[in-house]
Amino acid sequence: MIPAQFDYAAPNSIAEAVTLLGQRSDEAKLLAGGHSLIPAMKLRLAQPQLLIDLGRIKDLAYIREEGGNILIGAMTTHYQLESSETLKKICPLLTECAASIGDVQVRNKGTIGGSLAHADPAADWPAAVIALRAEIVAVGAGGERVIKADDFFVDLLTTALQPGEIIREIRLERPQNPRGQAYQKVPHPASGFAVVGVAVNLKVTADSLCESASIGITGVATKVYRAAAVEGALLGQQLEDQTITTAAAHACDGIEANSDLYASGDYRCQLAKIHTQRAIKRATIKAT
Ligand SMILES: Cc1cc2nc3c(=O)[nH]c(=O)nc-3n(C[C@H](O)[C@H](O)[C@H](O)COP(=O)(O)OP(=O)(O)OC[C@H]3O[C@@H](n4cnc5c(N)ncnc54)[C@H](O)[C@@H]3O)c2cc1C
Repeated sequence: MIPAQFDYAAPNSIAEAVTLLGQRSDEAKLLAGGHSLIPAMKLRLAQPQLLIDLGRIKDLAYIREEGGNILIGAMTTHYQLESSETLKKICPLLTECAASIGDVQVRNKGTIGGSLAHADPAADWPAAVIALRAEIVAVGAGGERVIKADDFFVDLLTTALQPGEIIREIRLERPQNPRGQAYQKVPHPASGFAVVGVAVNLKVTADSLCESASIGITGVATKVYRAAAVEGALLGQQLEDQTITTAAAHACDGIEANSDLYASGDYRCQLAKIHTQRAIKRATIKAT
């Protein structure tokens, strides 16, 4: 359980990190909280020759409200997100999602940027950023670019980041009231990762009609996905029990669900339907 030998660099600025990464992008890895990367290195699943530690770069860990947007630095820890009083008021989906991750040690070190970049199929953040229609700001030698969360997760452990790019920020529109949000999760009993995780973000009219619905589901397939059929079945509808149950039954439409020792694909889909229903109900109650 000892990693292979590696060089270590701790740049003080993003520009310096981009330069270092650009010089050795084939053999270097960024280090954030280390809670996914270090175990992979110990198991020799990852053997980077250079670790570029982002921990000394100032101003990569923040939660700000600016011009109608919420801005989150890539190195913001799960705990900082979970405990943000601002987010509890204006975007509780983020605090709920953060609070569901692993245990307190994991939440103290793990970062939102590291989790998104790692793109574990059972990670919680991907569901939330998809449901919030967030954008991921990446910086590389060619400057910055913005990637929509919907386009960011490409496949198992694979994102739209190009070699040499670093996630700098996650940004999203501040949700407008009346809105309802909920994160509903079935954690794996050993790791805490999502067997199924459902993030719901609704906008509801004064007379309880669903004006917009965004639903992200993690844990079920090889990558997070938008439950488009559920969203379509809610749109323009009165959010009553029967409508919600009927809509949630589409949670796995078009999806090939993963099977493993803990849960078969059929069981995962059944969990996804039930927890989509519960998450929509909770979000509806909060919105009305
Ligand atoms: C016991 C345990 C339980 C856990 N339970 C859960 C859980 O319930 N839910 C959950 O979602 N996760 C869980 N995790 C994972 C945890 O949330 C990790 O913190 C997270 O997946 C990775 O974040 P990190 O900051 O530790 O990244 P690291 O491990 O440092 O990095 C992960 C990957 O992302 C890359 N990277 C890091 N930062 C950036 C950046 N800014 N730009 C580009 N690439 C970057 C790294 O090079 C590496 O490839 C658990 C982990 C452990 C050890």
